[in-house]
Amino acid sequence: MIRRSLMLLLGGVLALAPRADAQLKVVTSTTDLYDIAREVGGNKITATHIGEGYQDPHFIEAKPSFVLQLRNADVWAFVGLDLEIGWMPLLLDGARNPKIRQGGSGYVDCSTAIKILDTPQGNVDRSMGDVHPLGNPHYWLDPENGRRIARLFKTRFAQLDPANEDTYDKNEKAYEARLNAAEKGWAADLASIKGKPVVAWHTSWRYFAEYNGMNIVAFMEPKPGVPPSPSHLYEVIQTVKRTGAKAIVMEPFYDRKVADLVAKQTGIKVLMLPPSVGGVKGIDDYIQLMQYDMAQLAAAVR
Ligand SMILES: [Zn+2]
Repeated sequence: MIRRSLMLLLGGVLALAPRADAQLKVVTSTTDLYDIAREVGGNKITATHIGEGYQDPHFIEAKPSFVLQLRNADVWAFVGLDLEIGWMPLLLDGARNPKIRQGGSGYVDCSTAIKILDTPQGNVDRSMGDVHPLGNPHYWLDPENGRRIARLFKTRFAQLDPANEDTYDKNEKAYEARLNAAEKGWAADLASIKGKPVVAWHTSWRYFAEYNGMNIVAFMEPKPGVPPSPSHLYEVIQTVKRTGAKAIVMEPFYDRKVADLVAKQTGIKVLMLPPSVGGVKGIDDYIQLMQYDMAQLAAAVR
């Protein structure tokens, strides 16, 4: 009887221990995190993502199939700062997987690796419809933050899978080298963008501007997540006329008709830029995304 219990216990322990050749199962909230995870994890991980690059990341539908992905996940990596607040709690509750809940070994809040912009001062107030109550979550649009995310993944993957630490380290270094090389390629674009006045729809482009030096003179939204009112549009039009802003930078999922109105009044260009990997056809990885957005913007403001 004792022997049988011991065998059962041993069987349980063996079932819990990861196999040496098992890949880490990584689920990410966005395509950008997914791409960087794959670069760092290589063939030591399998990865899936929940949002698509063409979707507004603030509003993703919590489908039952996502719960199943999370139930078996070793890692749940997400943007944080409440970007996923509308759906993440539902999915994590449904998944009943302690590894990926807050405090679990596989719970990876990527915002912890980032210097956050627009952190609110004083009390957080959602009554105005502000979708960034904890600060601006669109930090992946600065390649320096792409590197920070990659380093965070390296550390966390190595903690969960120490046998492959060297591989994660090597992959991460190789990825940074590729990103550095790509940056040299878009140096001329950066020079054309620096200091140019632009309008952005959402504050999602703040980190992009921090990196490339474009001067955001107005936002189409009076507050993040709040659509422009007629009086706010009037102000934007005045600002465009005063500053000679060259382009309205916006994600394809916002209402172009409103931007076209401003364009009609002022002659400003409307520039739809994907904010994420997969946001337009052919932009399949993070470096391509940065390259593409930088080139499109440079051409629009040159
Ligand atoms: Zn936002």
